[in-house]
Amino acid sequence: MRNRRAALAAIAGAASLTLTLTACGQSGEGGSKEKTNDVKGATIGIAMPTKSSERWISDGENVVKDLEAKGYKTKLVYGEDDSATQVSQIENLITQGVKGLIVAAIDNKSLNNVLQEAADAHIPVISYDRLILGTENIDYYASFDNEKVGKLQGQYIVDKLGLSKGRKGPFNIELFAGSNDDNNTKYFFGGAMSVLQPYLDKKQLVVRSGQTALNKVTTLRWDGTTAQKRMEDILTSSYKTGRVDAVLSPYDGISIGILSALKSDGYGSADKPLPVITGQDAELASVKSITAGQQTQTVYKDLRKLAEVAATMVDDVLKGKKPEVNDTKTYDNGTKVVPAYLLQPVSVDKSNYKQVLVDGGYYTEADLK
Ligand code: BGC
Repeated sequence: MRNRRAALAAIAGAASLTLTLTACGQSGEGGSKEKTNDVKGATIGIAMPTKSSERWISDGENVVKDLEAKGYKTKLVYGEDDSATQVSQIENLITQGVKGLIVAAIDNKSLNNVLQEAADAHIPVISYDRLILGTENIDYYASFDNEKVGKLQGQYIVDKLGLSKGRKGPFNIELFAGSNDDNNTKYFFGGAMSVLQPYLDKKQLVVRSGQTALNKVTTLRWDGTTAQKRMEDILTSSYKTGRVDAVLSPYDGISIGILSALKSDGYGSADKPLPVITGQDAELASVKSITAGQQTQTVYKDLRKLAEVAATMVDDVLKGKKPEVNDTKTYDNGTKVVPAYLLQPVSVDKSNYKQVLVDGGYYTEADLK
């Protein structure tokens, strides 16, 4: 460990940084992990999961912009949804002498060893959007209220079907969840089910496929094609008669896959209308789909704010300041409760997309054409 530290110090020296590393290797709450006199010009490593989804591309760009505005250099890497790739990318960032890490995990349990290396090198780590599990070597968590995301999706379905206004149903619903190696998945699904379960219990909502347990409805790596295939199988096996009235979808890319399956099965006509279908991230393709009357809803999360929170956290920690948090209870990663700053998600559909997304400056009218 000593040698590794010496090597890292040499790299830092070569980059002519004026950092003073403390000798103590404590972990846990940030703010004191690394005392620095001057972190100007230091490099921050940013590890994002994939470029296959628009949101992570924006995340990467936003974090880079915010860190550069604070005087840092950045190294941004994408793991292309392969956890081994992400581990070696983070290892490389450490070897290259980054002074802080912002990590959106691919597999939340695969990073323990590499984050031990980061801790040994006194590199503070911000867990970005997705909580990293089973390690004490993360300092802060920047995310959204993930349970609320699910609640917004569940409530949207209940309202749109009229169940909250006294309609009795029964309505057919099918359930989809995110990747089982993403800690957010259980929060999204749990939040949605907390709203839907009472209606399932009263049989006002019916899951004909019978697939209701989380481990039966997850979608590895949030893959739209995997979801499309599962929806096709469900339509074939459970909807020879009747039709699906609602689909709980946790993410826009999954919603688009589900929509393809439904359209191939003849949904989208007057006698076979598309079901209510939720989503998340307000990705451009999905917002366009919403304005075209196909996908029904999405959950918007302002990624500009998330990037700003994460960049500020790492900056504060490096300057020996305690970052602002607003949750110190919810996010137990199995080793410690990670202090978090959680932002608020917003439900978006055809009725409010202009106000939220266009007036809010997230998209221009031209983007949505
Ligand atoms: C994020 C979501 C995103 C999903 C798929 C989750 O961890 O919180 O915003 O839709 O990953 O990329």
